[in-house]
This record gives sequence, C-alpha cells and structure tokens, in this order.
Amino acid sequence: MAKPLIYDLDFESLNSTLAELDQPPFRTQQLWEGLYTRLYTDFSQFSNIPKDLRDSLSKQFIINPLRVQKSLRSQDGLTEKVLFALQDGTSVEAVLMRYERRNSLCISTQVGCPVGCVFCATGQMGFVRSLSSGEILAQVLHFMRQLQAENQKLTNIVYMGMGEPFLNYEATMDSVRRLMDQQGLNFGARRITISTVGIIPKIEQFTEENLQVNLAVSLHAADNALRSQLVPANRMFPINKLIPVCKAYTEKTHRRISFEYALIDGVNDSREAALALAGLLKGMLCHVNLIALNPSKKYSLQGSPKAKVHAFSATLEEQGIPVSIRLRRGVEIQAGCGQLAGAEITA
Ligand code: SAH
Ligand code: SF4
Repeated sequence: MAKPLIYDLDFESLNSTLAELDQPPFRTQQLWEGLYTRLYTDFSQFSNIPKDLRDSLSKQFIINPLRVQKSLRSQDGLTEKVLFALQDGTSVEAVLMRYERRNSLCISTQVGCPVGCVFCATGQMGFVRSLSSGEILAQVLHFMRQLQAENQKLTNIVYMGMGEPFLNYEATMDSVRRLMDQQGLNFGARRITISTVGIIPKIEQFTEENLQVNLAVSLHAADNALRSQLVPANRMFPINKLIPVCKAYTEKTHRRISFEYALIDGVNDSREAALALAGLLKGMLCHVNLIALNPSKKYSLQGSPKAKVHAFSATLEEQGIPVSIRLRRGVEIQAGCGQLAGAEITA
C-alpha cells in the first residue's frame, strides 16, 4: 500500500504520530512550521529536526505527492495551468491567474466529476475519484512556493477546478481548515471561495460551519426544466428547494452568496431568462457572476456574444440584482472555467 501523505494529517494526528515515536510535543510544532510556514518539500530540509527522526518520517510519509506533468501559460503569461500527476497515476489540473494586485488560484477537489453538467469538460470525462485533503492542499503549496520564489503571494483560492467540492465535503473542509490554521498557512477565510453545483444537504451543513469562507452556487438557469437539462444534479436538488436553502445561508451567516451563470447562446441568455433570474433572486443578499460559456470538446453550443452578455447584465442591474461579468481567462490553453479535463486522461 502507498505511504500516507503527511498533509492529510491535522495537528492532533501529527502530534500523536510523533508521540508514538517518543518525540516531545515541540517537535510537532517544528514539523508543522516546516510544512506550512517554510513550505519544505523534502524531509531533509528540516534542519532543526534530528536526522534519525527525519529518516523515520520519510519512511512513513509522503511529503511530495504531486508531480508536474505539464505546465502551460497563456500568451499574455498571466494564466498558468498545471497538470499534476498524483501517486496513483491519475491527474488533476490547477490554474493560477495573476492580476495586477492579486494572484488567484483555482484548485481541484476530485479527479473528474460525477455530476456530469453537459457543458463542462470535467463532467464530460466522468468520475474517477475524490482527492484527499492533503492532495487538495498540495496544489496550493505548489503555487505558494512558486510565488514565494518570485517574492509574490497567493491572495485568493477558489475551489472551482475539477470536481464537486460538496461531493467530497470532509476532505474539502479539512483542507479549508488547514489553509486557515493560524499556526500554519494562516490564509484568510474571506479570500477562499467554494463553488458548488447545489448539493442541498451540504449547503445546509456548510451554513452551520459559520465560517467566513465565500460560497458560490452554479445556477445557469432560473427555469427548472432547462436547469435539469444542463445540470443533472438539478433533478435531485431542484431550484424551488435550492433557492430557499441559499437564502437561509445568507440569513444565518449574513454573508453574500454568489451565483454563477454561464451564458449559452440562444439557450439561457434571453431577456426573459434574465427577468426570471431576477425574480428568483430578488431580495436575497447575493451577487451574480456572468461568464460567456467556454468551449469544451463534447458540447457544441457556443458562449453568448458580448452584446448579449452585456444586455443580460443590464437587465439584472435594472432589476436591482448586483452583477458582474467575469473575464474569460486562459481559454486558449483550456484553463478557463469548465475546461479542465486532465488532458492526459482524455487524450
Ligand atoms: N463543481 C463545482 C465547482 C467546479 S466547476 C461547480 O459546478 O460549481 C466551476 C465553475 O465553472 C462552475 O460555476 C461551473 O458551472 C462553471 N463551468 C463549467 N463548465 C463551464 C464552461 N464550459 N464555461 C463556463 N463555465 C463553466
Ligand atoms: Fe462537476 Fe462543476 Fe463540472 Fe458540473 S460544472 S460537471 S458539478 S465540475
């Protein structure tokens, strides 16, 4: 069996592991600092830890679970997509987007996705497996190290890569807690966003966590029949049940919820569709993010042209719904929303 990944352990578990190795408690602190503050990639780097302990840790744990299989940059150099090979030979992608004042990372929570949204490259490849919390975190650590070497910092993390975070709830939330840990990465909750297709019981559970982490729900249609066609999860979690749960989230947490809406030419981009969406969301503490659908291999329909995107946005605004239009980033390297498919797998 493969060795466990050290990033899968929380502080307490690491503490008990070290206690079993007859180590004093301060060793856990040293190890934690090496992993999450100094961002070490090899046990040999822990120079404050005795060599025999380093040796037994490296026999027991994997510290370097990801291998960069491929790395692509957009023409402007601002978007970078990395295909990571995992220990079992499967792979996932993550995307770093550089802006003037922020560096935002889009990470994956599953290899493939069981939800099967028709327009999404990840959905089109089917489901392979869920990632562990450590595998989710390792994507972040890779880019943190890279940015650190450039004297830059990661400022935002979005769980919008491959997979459905709320169908891998425990690992996702463990990774979030590890990111927020003040003794470690100390990454601000408000700079983290989890995007879900709308798994109702998990939105309810997330509401109870009462964290400052942002929540985005991928809606794409206000009409129930249309949404069921586009997003099969809607058959189990229909709009009339989903929206009240979203509203309850905003009321309980006092946090604004985001709704993602990919505009598909001639499908969900009419004025009527915008009015229906406005009607659905009226009075809710929310924000709509519009994006023109990105192309994917197995879906032939097109993203809405610019004029329609702007008209849709104007209708929402006129109805008092806060809205923004998301820039398409990295589309030419298949790094845009919904384009991640672990190229090596689908080739
Ligand atoms: N499974 C989660 C998170 C990963 S998908 C979810 O569905 O929310 C991240 C976002 O990309 C979602 O909003 C999803 O609907 C959107 N998306 C998927 N395919 C897309 C495409 N072809 N063009 C634009 N956005 C897409
Ligand atoms: Fe899965 Fe999200 Fe893609 Fe739908 S859009 S198939 S939920 S990754």
